[in-house]
Amino acid sequence: MTEQPKPAPLGTPIVAPIHHSAAYAFNTLADAREVFAQRAAGYTYARTGNPNVTALESAVTKLERAECAVATSSGQAAVTLALLALTGPVNGHVVASSHLYGGTVDLLTDTLAETGLTVTFADPRYPEEWEAAVRPETRVFFLESIANPLADLPELDAIAEIAHRNGAVVVVDNTVATPHLFTPGEHGADLVIHSATKYLSGHGGPLGGLLVDTGNFDPTQDPKRWPWLTTPHPRWGDRSPVEVYGAKRALLGVARCKYLNDLGPCMTAITAHEILQGISTLGVRVERQSATAASLATTLNRHPAVARVHHPQFGGARQEELYERGGYRGAGGVFSVDLNGTPEQVEAVVNSLRLIKLAANIGDVRTLVAHPASMTHCRLTPEQFEASGITEQTLRFTVGLEDVADITADLFQALSVIADAPEAPSARETAADPAPLHAREAHRDSHYQPKDSVHDHH
Ligand SMILES: *Cc1c(COP(=O)(O)O)cnc(C)c1O
Repeated sequence: MTEQPKPAPLGTPIVAPIHHSAAYAFNTLADAREVFAQRAAGYTYARTGNPNVTALESAVTKLERAECAVATSSGQAAVTLALLALTGPVNGHVVASSHLYGGTVDLLTDTLAETGLTVTFADPRYPEEWEAAVRPETRVFFLESIANPLADLPELDAIAEIAHRNGAVVVVDNTVATPHLFTPGEHGADLVIHSATKYLSGHGGPLGGLLVDTGNFDPTQDPKRWPWLTTPHPRWGDRSPVEVYGAKRALLGVARCKYLNDLGPCMTAITAHEILQGISTLGVRVERQSATAASLATTLNRHPAVARVHHPQFGGARQEELYERGGYRGAGGVFSVDLNGTPEQVEAVVNSLRLIKLAANIGDVRTLVAHPASMTHCRLTPEQFEASGITEQTLRFTVGLEDVADITADLFQALSVIADAPEAPSARETAADPAPLHAREAHRDSHYQPKDSVHDHH
């Protein structure tokens, strides 16, 4: 009889295993009692935590150079938890950017408005509008670090200063920029939101969100303004969240152990695993996507079918200044164009695209197009539509990882529905194009005159 070979030792996997378990066993009832009462750390049930979710939360906390994070089932859930934790108990007022993702606008003006939240919109390029919008009950300023869909940069430092002077918390949706390109906590943000569905995941698979506390907010500095964080409550065993979690973690403690626990929009272990895998290639993806988007924006800016390109390099001198001062490492993979055509022609261009798919997502490895007026922003009122800068002629692109020459060729064949460009740039030209943003002015074709510059708008 031959001897059976011994099984090889299991070794340490390079990729962390997935902990796909709803509940966690305790050795004794005394152990369970301590963890459930939050007197000891530990997992109880996967709605409030799981090792894969914790690993993702730690990774994003580190990327944002922040204090702590809570993962959620989607970006929408992360925004919802942030707003509930900051305004839920008091019918608070929010000053929000007029250049926001459509889903955030719906949440602010409809679903959370029904629960008593009030909102005033202000232009992210004009801090004086934010100052004028402040009320005694204002608890939150909400804006995007690169706005979706027009890719404009906000006056974040100035707006954050106004918020803090008036006792409001600054929440920045950093989905389009990603922490690789920009860290809002270094420019006054107190909380950072991610739709991890987009660049963090990067491959268009799972939905997920993150709510990140940068550690800048400390409710004990003005305890009467945040009584639900600073005073004892039966929910926290007759202690205050500040006592239970510490001053810098009280807000996310409440977001996780009250709102995430009670409402249930938690992230699964498998989703956390997939998003962590995506994050391991975040830097190379967004650098390439930023370069491709800058190249396409430059090429399209010269195309006769394009009336205007919305990208920080074509937003005027102040946008370039904000880009430099903010230390952005790229302008991201999202940009928009206003076409020189009738709504029917715009529709024909969209329907002619072959490589570029028509889909309401960003941050995928595939290049996608969207018509915001019919899709992501279809529920905006005429006034919100006007303030957003989006028109019937606006198309949003989110650049993937394909060869820039292939994307350019697809765009040129589709735009020929409206007008033929004198010549399509060669593959070598498009590949060579990405130059630093501040060197961009010189590249502009002399025949190109923007119809109305961003700064004439006011
Ligand atoms: C997609 C998106 C959201 C919402 O995230 P979901 O994961 O789709 O719920 C929020 N903000 C921005 C900027 C987005 O692009």
